Amino acid sequence: HRCKQAQQEMLFYSPEMNQRSMARLKLSSELHHALERNELQLFYQAQYDCQSGNLVGAEALIRWLHPVRGFVSPAEFIPFAEETGLIIPIGEWVLLQAAKQLSQWDETNLHLPRLAINLSVRQFKANLPEQLTHLLSHLQLHPSRIELELTESMLMQSDAATISLLTRLKAAGFSLALDDFGTGYSNLSYLQRFPLDYLKIDQSFIRNLPDDSGSAGLVHAICGIARSLNLQLIAEGVETPEQLAFLQQLNCDHAQGFLLSRPQSSTEFEKLLIRKAEI
Ligand code: C2E
Ligand code: MG
Ligand code: MG
Ligand code: MG
Repeated sequence: HRCKQAQQEMLFYSPEMNQRSMARLKLSSELHHALERNELQLFYQAQYDCQSGNLVGAEALIRWLHPVRGFVSPAEFIPFAEETGLIIPIGEWVLLQAAKQLSQWDETNLHLPRLAINLSVRQFKANLPEQLTHLLSHLQLHPSRIELELTESMLMQSDAATISLLTRLKAAGFSLALDDFGTGYSNLSYLQRFPLDYLKIDQSFIRNLPDDSGSAGLVHAICGIARSLNLQLIAEGVETPEQLAFLQQLNCDHAQGFLLSRPQSSTEFEKLLIRKAEI
């Protein structure tokens, strides 16, 4: 019976669907090879203190330079890598690459205070603190130099395992940031249960500042939440001086966006660090 059903399903399997799954299969094998072929790269985007204008850190953002397709956005291939499990080796590569880069900058006296790394749900598992601590100790980096960017979906279950994992990361010295805040789960009680350090306001709230009263009100409220829970606030996607002025007025802590600095290759970012070292 099952076999018949499968046969019937095959009959209804449209050429478009077939094409789609072929394309997925191709992408999957290409992404698999992207690692060994050195097609993946980390870009770095600076983060600044809103009041002093000092460079406080950077976020590492992955890039895939495909030999034929050119640049493929992480918004396209990261969700795909998560579905296929390829995010595990890619995520490990990101962690290693980011830590090595930070340590290399230390060695050349281009000290970057802190580097933020995006984690995917699949990486968020019990042995993460040990894996990270092991990696950093080899490079003589203190965990406080690394900020781990989590997503709301990781914090949705406030089960013992999640609490234990976050508590151990915190105890090891890592900074914990909640990325894309406000776009996911709406139950805010987890904010007080988990030992977070930073909230990153999603760029969708910043985009229409300062004129849109809805966005302005929400950003105002998010600032209040952060302040009363003793969390530092990072605004993402700051593109205009007016947006920055609005955030400064609200005493937002840090800002990141095209206005201040675009994500750039390590070579380009190094120039930014050199300029800073010269001041
Ligand atoms: P995200 O972590 O929220 O990263 C911020 C995104 O906003 C980045 O997109 C960045 O280039 C972009 N951005 C920064 N400033 C501005 C601005 O002023 N205006 C606008 N419109 N955009 C701005 P990107 O690099 O394309 O990355 C997209 C997403 O892919 C990231 O969102 C993150 O969720 C994911 N991602 C990137 N790198 C990694 C990684 O190494 N590991 C994992 N798991 N996910 C990653
Ligand atoms: Mg991020
Ligand atoms: Mg974000
Ligand atoms: Mg994100």
